[in-house]
Formats: sequence, structure tokens, C-alpha cells
Amino acid sequence: MTDNNTQEPGRDRMPVLFVGHGSPMNVIEVNRWSRGFAALQHEIPRPVAILAISAHWYVAGSYLTSNTQPETIHDFGGFPPELYEVDYPAAGNADRAEQIRSRINKTRADYQVSLSSDWGLDHGVWSVLRWMYPQADVPVIQLSINRELELQQHYQLGHELVELRNRGVLILASGNIVHNLRDAFQQKQTGASATPDWAKRFDDTVKQVITQHNTDKLLGLHNTADGQLAHPSAEHWLPLIYAYAAADKDDRVRCPMEGFDWGSISMRSIIFG
Ligand code: ZN
Repeated sequence: MTDNNTQEPGRDRMPVLFVGHGSPMNVIEVNRWSRGFAALQHEIPRPVAILAISAHWYVAGSYLTSNTQPETIHDFGGFPPELYEVDYPAAGNADRAEQIRSRINKTRADYQVSLSSDWGLDHGVWSVLRWMYPQADVPVIQLSINRELELQQHYQLGHELVELRNRGVLILASGNIVHNLRDAFQQKQTGASATPDWAKRFDDTVKQVITQHNTDKLLGLHNTADGQLAHPSAEHWLPLIYAYAAADKDDRVRCPMEGFDWGSISMRSIIFG
């Protein structure tokens, strides 16, 4: 038996990974970003399972996927047909999802997590994993982002996931540190690809605040002027809060990928630990 804080024998403590997923085109294009996703597998010990938190499962309620064979969800529109044909057939793990659910629910009274078989894997997850683990041989469970929670509750829920790191589970949070689609589409349409000052500033500030492990500052960043521009809505910001909350103060912070796609979409990835 191991308690919540005990390392499983013979297992490395897993790092936590935040990935900026960017455009769905990264699924089918071999480019700077998809090569970066593929390289991430060499930065991280091979996990026994992945607990993924994606910007694209932002719903009213806290859910964990319990599907044995989660569907590859093509949750985007207007892209080439070959993108819709990509399948990522990773298994789920209902027993592990139930263990995570019951452990969280024991400690939380302000919200409860339920199992759900109504979701599968959305592109925030499989667009990265398709490159990182192309054999789809690591089971994946997704945790929804409950849009009814306060920021502090997201942070606390992320912190509840810490102990999974001792069990060989990779916590993979997928969003983008700067994600203003209106700006990005404008840049794409006009052929401009200049990164605006506010986007650069916000991306740099996030890196600095995370490296300093300044939790209060991080939790206030989205309310700053740059934060409002970087995130007109919260869903691509919140995954970073989960990743950060599952990290320790002593974890090394590394950014194996950085830069911008479509002018202002930050593609920064962060490994904690
Ligand atoms: Zn996205």
C-alpha cells in the first residue's frame, strides 16, 4: 500500500507538462511545432497513463472520461478533409478514472467530479499526443475544465492531481499562453505575422512569474490589460493553472518550445520537474 504522498517503488516522479497546442493544422503538417511535440517524448519518462486537461473540454461540470476506447473528437471546422480522417486510438482507463474521482471527491465539498462517457479525446489532446506518442499506446483520461468554478478552485483542483505524479501518470495540460483568435485570424488573413507587443510581453511575464513560482501574481495575470488581450475568454488560459498547481515550488521549470504561430498564438510549452 502507498499513501498519497509516497512514491511508488521503482518509479520516477513524473514531471508535469503544459503544451501550447495552437492550430489543428499541426496535426498533419510537419513543421516547427509538430516536430517540437514529437521531441517532448524524449524530455519525459514514459508514463503509465496520461491525465489530460484541455481548453476544448470547457463545460458546466467536473468530469473524468471513463470510456474504455475514447473517440477521437474532431472539434474544429473548415480544415482540410485529411485532418478529419486522423484517428488517435489510445485506450482509456475506467478504473484509474474512478480512483481519481473518488480521491478528489473525498477532499472536496465545494464541487464533485463525475465520470462521463460522453466525451473522448479532443484535438487539444490528440493533436499533441499524435506526435508525442504516435503508437497511441499510453492510456489517456481527460478531466474537463468546469466553467462554473472560480479561479482559486481550478488551482485547488489542479493541486489535487499532484499525487498522480508518484504513480507514473503524466499530467498534460493543453491550452495556449496567448490565445486571441480574432487577432490571430486577422494576421493570418492579411498575411502579417508580426507578434504584437502585448502578446510578447504577456508571454514573457508568464514565463518569469512561473519560474519565480509567484502564485499570487500568476492568478492575477489574466486581469491585467495584457491578460485581457491575451485571453478574451478563459478556456485556453486555465490549463496552465492546472499544470502549475500540480507542480512543486522545487520543480525545475523548462520551456522546450517557445515562439508564436499566426502572429500572436503563443506556442510555449513548459515542463515542471
Ligand atoms: Zn485550442
